[in-house]
Amino acid sequence: MAKFELLALPYDINALEPVISAQTLNFHHGKHLQTYVNNLNAAIEGTPFAEMSLEDITCKAEGGMRNNAGQTLNHNLYFLQFTQPAADRKPIGNLAKAIDAQFGSFETFKEEFVAKGTSLFGSGWVWLSLDENGKLVITQETNAGNPVQRGLKPLLTFDVWEHAYYLDYQNRRAEQLKALWQIIDWQVIEDRFTK
Ligand code: MN
Repeated sequence: MAKFELLALPYDINALEPVISAQTLNFHHGKHLQTYVNNLNAAIEGTPFAEMSLEDITCKAEGGMRNNAGQTLNHNLYFLQFTQPAADRKPIGNLAKAIDAQFGSFETFKEEFVAKGTSLFGSGWVWLSLDENGKLVITQETNAGNPVQRGLKPLLTFDVWEHAYYLDYQNRRAEQLKALWQIIDWQVIEDRFTK
């Protein structure tokens, strides 16, 4: 019996166009994420990991199980943070204040975040997280890495694996990263920040 199920998208398959096309979403969510979930379920079956949360498996497992758990967790956080495009989306509430206080402005934060995503060599993720002292940190995680593995609380993430953008942007990773700001649901990020 499968423990983990494919995340149900909280929006229509074409809702994020033109930033993320329905075709990309079909492959990324319906094929890539589904495969990570299937592999994870197969790996944990009959082991003590079958009783653990996704976060715990991501931190405690090794090898393929750790990678498939990490990718399932990463993509769940990624897909749940989006909403339909609008040009003026920006942080709200306490997170908006924290970003201004720590980075100077939302513009400066965006530049740093995109630069970290662009300079990550190979496949991985760029993250905004909260550390144990309540400070915001931007980190690069390679492959299936998630900030929970270093004791951080993940808030926002951009997937820089080629499968996330190649159908729509080909090799132009930075172009996709800059476009993603139009579809961030900052209420979701604020809820993660204050929870
Ligand atoms: Mn991906």
